[in-house]
Amino acid sequence: MILIKEIEFIDYNENEVIMINLINGAADIIEKNIYNLIINSQFDKIDKQVLDCMLERKYLFTDEKEYHNFLEKLDNKIEELEKRATPSFLVVPSYACNLHCIYCYEQTYMIKGTKDIDPLKMVDIQFDGIDKIIKIYEDKYGNIKDDIRITIMGGEPLLKCNLKTIEYIFKQAKKRNYIIDIVSNGVDLNYYVDLFNKYKSTLDHIQITVDGVKEIHDKRRIFHNGQGSFDLIMKNIKLAIENNILIILRVNVDDTNIDELPALANFLVKEFNNSEMLKPYLYLLQDGGCSGEQNIVNEKIGIEKIFQLEEKNPNMTIFRKKFHPENFIESIFNDVPYQPVLRHCGAAKNQFILDCKSNVYKCWHGIGNNNYRVGTFYPKYELDDEKINDWFNRSVKIINKCKECKYRYICGTGCPAAKHMDNDNMDIKGPSCVNYGELIKTIMLEKMKKL
Ligand code: SF4
Ligand code: SF4
Repeated sequence: MILIKEIEFIDYNENEVIMINLINGAADIIEKNIYNLIINSQFDKIDKQVLDCMLERKYLFTDEKEYHNFLEKLDNKIEELEKRATPSFLVVPSYACNLHCIYCYEQTYMIKGTKDIDPLKMVDIQFDGIDKIIKIYEDKYGNIKDDIRITIMGGEPLLKCNLKTIEYIFKQAKKRNYIIDIVSNGVDLNYYVDLFNKYKSTLDHIQITVDGVKEIHDKRRIFHNGQGSFDLIMKNIKLAIENNILIILRVNVDDTNIDELPALANFLVKEFNNSEMLKPYLYLLQDGGCSGEQNIVNEKIGIEKIFQLEEKNPNMTIFRKKFHPENFIESIFNDVPYQPVLRHCGAAKNQFILDCKSNVYKCWHGIGNNNYRVGTFYPKYELDDEKINDWFNRSVKIINKCKECKYRYICGTGCPAAKHMDNDNMDIKGPSCVNYGELIKTIMLEKMKKL
């Protein structure tokens, strides 16, 4: 018998251990004596029923060859799925923004590229670029069956003055049956409600960031004159919800607002009465953008704190938590199979970002930085295959340290941008580790308390 390497054991209590399969998300509570037999490979002393269960749940294989073949088959299958991942696109209609948030990373870069192109013409050129990328994909893999998604972002895309441009993007997307979502600060959203009502089936959702109750938010997400944006944004979120527009509300969490999350939870519950059209989530900031790293909370400490706050205030359950191993752990508690990965995100698959200066990027954090550009689409359409391949090769099958890592099917090499403020060139060929062992243990034990 061979025990898989991709396994985690967590001390649950004096007598029991949680055993987790890090490939498929199977999780079981076992007695300590069985645990001791397992880790000492004394499988002949384990009850047959337990062994059969371990084989079925793929903690164990009968021999090395079977284990190896299973991994090889699995890797080939994921590779195929990731290669064929439906292309997704981000378009940046403009880099202008009406806010001056303290952590905005876009201020870091000098955005270069073509100038003085009429915005509507630029949309045509962007969609022409998208059509070309899709054609290359379809020539390779056949017709795309899934929905193609376009994310509109900026700067702030929903500036009042961008209305015509955004309407034109919707028109082009609808013509092609694409779905749109938007990352916005929500300040000028009221000018867009009619448009969104007109294109209801094209718009999926709008993501808006709110960093706390008014006193907190207004210190962080401010206008250029220093004034806060909370009241205006909340008014617009209400308007959107009244019009059945789904709002994904992101809360960037760091040391300066973590303690105030219950107040925000109370406010949201009171104002929106758990509306289905409002889906808030917490994101523990990994990088402080222009405001530096001093307020970043260690993820384990942040997770523990958030669980403590939730224990005291049930309204905190309004927030979905986007912690690193969250998808993996959700699959355990929701009893659904985990989809293992070789790559971390869309940047290493078929995601392309087309900005308003004819630059093409793969990664959100690379936007506006020439070092991260992988091509242009005007006046000449030119993609740098080598750079695109560098992203595609950001796989746990390629990066040496990841090949042997037991967390690889959860991590997929990590996000190289997590520490991008430290180096102007992201190391996309190197691993970007997260302490999955510690995080999985912390979240599992916290969630088990509630069972
Ligand atoms: S590499 Fe990191 S920042 Fe870039 S798109 Fe992927 S997750 Fe986002
Ligand atoms: S980046 Fe680090 S944690 Fe992630 S798979 Fe590679 S070695 Fe493992």
